[in-house]
Amino acid sequence: MNTSTFSPEDMDFEGRYVDPHYKGEEDASVEISLRPKTLNDYIGQEKVKENLKIYIDAAKRRGEPMDHVLLYGPPGLGKTTLAGIIASEMGVNIRVTSGPAIEKQGDLVALLTNLDDGDVLFIDEIHRLSKQIEEILYPAMEDGAVDLIIGKGPSAQSIRLDLPKFTLVGATTRAGQIAAPLRDRFGVILRLELYTPEELAGIVTRSANVLDIGIDVDGAAEIASRSRGTPRIANRLLKRARDFAEVVGNGVITKETAELALARMEIDSLGLDNIDRLLLTAMIRNYNGGPVGLDTIAAAIGEEAITIEDVYEPYLMQIGFLSRTPRGRMVTPAGYKHLGIPYQGKPEQIKFED
Ligand code: ADP
Repeated sequence: MNTSTFSPEDMDFEGRYVDPHYKGEEDASVEISLRPKTLNDYIGQEKVKENLKIYIDAAKRRGEPMDHVLLYGPPGLGKTTLAGIIASEMGVNIRVTSGPAIEKQGDLVALLTNLDDGDVLFIDEIHRLSKQIEEILYPAMEDGAVDLIIGKGPSAQSIRLDLPKFTLVGATTRAGQIAAPLRDRFGVILRLELYTPEELAGIVTRSANVLDIGIDVDGAAEIASRSRGTPRIANRLLKRARDFAEVVGNGVITKETAELALARMEIDSLGLDNIDRLLLTAMIRNYNGGPVGLDTIAAAIGEEAITIEDVYEPYLMQIGFLSRTPRGRMVTPAGYKHLGIPYQGKPEQIKFED
C-alpha cells in the first residue's frame, strides 16, 4: 500500500506532453516545491477558495476538524494541492493514499487508526475504492469509529474501535461514479474548473519564480494559452521551454523560445497535440464529423473510452471543438476550421439555420 506524499504512478507515459494524468516524469522534490502551501498562493478557482476559506475558519473557531471534503474535476487541476492546503491551513498533518492502493479492509483500518487527532486523510481516485472498503469508510466518516469482526462463524464478534477525529478529503475525476451513500457523507463537495489562460499565466510565472527560471510576460502567456486549462501541463511545458531557452536562447523564456519548444513538442497554437488532432480527424473522415459514440471513437484511435472522456474531451469541449449530443459526439464547425478541413454542414443543421 502506498501512503507516501504522492499517489502511486499507475499511468503509462507514452510521450504525451499534454497528458494531465501523468506525474511520473517529475522529480518529487521539484513537484513539492511547486505546490502552493496556502490558499493565498493558490491561483484561480475563486469560488472554491472562497467557500473553503469560510469552512476552514469556521472549523478553526470551533476547534474541530473540518467536515469531509470531496473534490472533483479533471486530472491535474490541483485537487491534491488543495488537500495539502486544507491540512496546512488547519495546522494538521496529511496522509496521502489512493483508491487503488487500498487493497484490503485492514489497509484502511491501519491508516485510520494511525491518524493523529484532526489529521487530513487524502484519498485520490476515491471512485476506485472497492465496495467492502467503502463500507469501512461509512461509520468512520459518520461516527468516527470502525466495526471489526473478530473470529469466524458463530463465535465471530463485532467490536467497535473509536478513531481519532479526522477530515477525509476525497478526490475524483468522476463524481458520477461515486456511490450515493459515500457521496452523501461528504459535507463539502467542490468542483474544480479548467483554468483560464490568464490564471495559467499567473501559475506559470509563480512556478518560474520558484524554480528560478527566467521568463517574460509574453513567454508565460504563450505557455499558458497552450496548457489546456491545466496547471500540471503548464508546469511541464514550462520546464521543457526552459531547456530550449538555455540551449538556443539566452536562458530567458520569451514568446519565441516558447513557440520553438512547443513546435518541437508538436503542440499547436491551442495546445492540441497529435492525438487530439487524430481524434478530431478520425471523427471527420470516418464518421462525417459525428454524431458518433464514445466507444466507436475509442476503437478508431486506439484509446480507452474512459481516457477520451477524462482527458481529451473536457478541453476539446471547453474550446468548442467538440459537442456532446444525445446521439453521440460531434465535431463543431470551429473544430473543422482549426484542422483546415472545409465544413459542409449537416443536413439537420442547415435546416435549423434557415
Ligand atoms: P490533481 O490532484 O488535481 O491531479 P495536483 O494537485 O497534483 O492536481 O496539481 C498538479 C500540479 O499543478 C501541481 O504541481 C501544482 O503545483 C500545480 N497546481 C495545481 N493547481 C494550482 C494552482 N491553483 N496554483 C498554482 N499551482 C497549481
